[in-house]
Amino acid sequence: MPRFRPILDALPAYRAGKAVVSADGRSFKLSSNESPYDPLPSVVEAVAAAAREIHRYPDPACVGLTEALSARLGVPQEHIALGAGSVTVAQQLFETVGEPGAEVIYAWRSFEAYPLLADLAGVTSVRVPLVEETHDLEAMAAAVTPATRMIFVCNPNNPTGTVNRTAELTAFLDRVPEDVLVVLDEAYREYVRDADVPDGLGLYGDRPNVAVLRTFSKAYGLAGLRVGYLVAQEPVASAVRKTTVPFAVNSIAQAAAIASLAAEDELLERVETVVKERTRVREALLGQGWAVPPTEANFVWLRLGERTAEFAEHCAVDGVAVRPLGEGARVSVGSPEANDAFLDAAARFRAG
Ligand code: PMP
Repeated sequence: MPRFRPILDALPAYRAGKAVVSADGRSFKLSSNESPYDPLPSVVEAVAAAAREIHRYPDPACVGLTEALSARLGVPQEHIALGAGSVTVAQQLFETVGEPGAEVIYAWRSFEAYPLLADLAGVTSVRVPLVEETHDLEAMAAAVTPATRMIFVCNPNNPTGTVNRTAELTAFLDRVPEDVLVVLDEAYREYVRDADVPDGLGLYGDRPNVAVLRTFSKAYGLAGLRVGYLVAQEPVASAVRKTTVPFAVNSIAQAAAIASLAAEDELLERVETVVKERTRVREALLGQGWAVPPTEANFVWLRLGERTAEFAEHCAVDGVAVRPLGEGARVSVGSPEANDAFLDAAARFRAG
């Protein structure tokens, strides 16, 4: 038997959202914050064209995609580092700053991959509890020690959907020492409609210790292809690029991401529809008597405490997959039909 790293026994499991099917064959997957739309025909065409070249290795530097992103975001190409999904880029960040004895600070509850990646990297997690379902940035700044190497700020936060606004976020950034990397995880940025939530891309320019994490998995609908990226000043971006495995982003993913940027207007129209549905879903839940934190993402959070598992099972009977996460359930905003099925299940749970 090989000797494994002891940490493997203690790793928290990452439980991905699964689809469920009702007895009459209905299935609404609202457990992974995916786009509810089929891929655009232009993206499928780009994928098919790229498929004809799969006997070749992909471009390891993702030149075409980096150029397209640079033009779209208005940032220099050297500020971009691409990876196989933003979760992989997050893992590279641990490779970049993690060393024995290092600490990483993140809010809890937040994106479940943070503790997993920290444990894998052998870095100590410092979890700062949410206050009113929102990052407590003051407490997070106060948690910094000489061992702190990185802080994740998930804005909007997964799974609560809550945000931190400009004044508090800039005050926080001003307070964090410059040798601590602050990662603004903006996986859900495209769904934000509150004008007072700062765009990380407008913040990192005069802050060498700030990195912005983005993904093609949500608004751009490419969750299955795994493309994410980081934007930071050149020293951080190039350090992260050094930690990649060669050819991490495959050729089909690169082609699909380029095609998605070309079709961005259509994709952002879809986001607009999801945002309208988000309002409808939250208001309907409030009308049913649920407490639902205001959400700027493509999901809602229901704090159910001990009834969380029961609620997930109740929804599953109707073919509605929600995501139980400890003390609550996160439910993605899907198609109107899926949202209706969820609202119907939620109403009956409250009534029962
Ligand atoms: N960050 C946050 C906050 C997320 O919710 C997710 C996906 N659930 C990710 C990063 C990772 O997304 P991906 O790896 O698909 O880019």
